[in-house]
Amino acid sequence: MTIPTAAELARLRNQLEADKKDIEHTLYENEHYGLQQSLRDSTGELSPIDNHPGDLATEVYDRAKDMALLDQEEFHLSRITAALQAMDEGTYGTCLACGDPIPLERLEAVPDTLYCIDHSPRQQVSDDRPVEEAYLTPPFGRSSLDEREDYNGFDGEDTWQIVEAWGNADSPAMSENREVEGYDHLMIEADENDGYVEPIESFLATDITGRHVSVVRNREYQAYMENGEGDHELEEQ
Ligand SMILES: [Zn+2]
Repeated sequence: MTIPTAAELARLRNQLEADKKDIEHTLYENEHYGLQQSLRDSTGELSPIDNHPGDLATEVYDRAKDMALLDQEEFHLSRITAALQAMDEGTYGTCLACGDPIPLERLEAVPDTLYCIDHSPRQQVSDDRPVEEAYLTPPFGRSSLDEREDYNGFDGEDTWQIVEAWGNADSPAMSENREVEGYDHLMIEADENDGYVEPIESFLATDITGRHVSVVRNREYQAYMENGEGDHELEEQ
């Protein structure tokens, strides 16, 4: 590990001051990303609340982007200011958290850091969630009950499947199921049996006495045989 010499510290200070000037110049030139100007002035409209929401969407998007860029620059600026202050106080190059010297290589790569690599706050990924999530629930309650062991009936997902069978805007390319071959297989659990549990139930039938079994040679039956599930005893029925 290399500890910065006085000359190297001076070089780092120059670097920080140059970066600071750059950012300040940029912010001055673009008037803080135009955020000091009201939206009304920048759109040339009397009011941004007009009857062209499409017009406003672009403005709102640009504003949000500018705010994020400004935040980023201001954050960088505050880090530089803190680093310069640490230089003045003689604490620069020492980790704020553990007090160990920060290697010169790290200072050269990230001159505005106040932490060694182990204690860099940027490694802590925030798990903050938007506060409204605590209050958001599915509109009609949780109604897809596939995971529940104790419930086997008709649920919200089944409702969706019926509605979805009338078509939606998806194409096979957008399906989450990679095996999709066409529009008939797009729906969630499109291959799910409807109204019975085992495929065999859909093609075996008995007469009213329950004794004479017959086979309905329908699509399920063909698929069942093609998958090699049935033996050909059924063929005699
Ligand atoms: Zn540290």
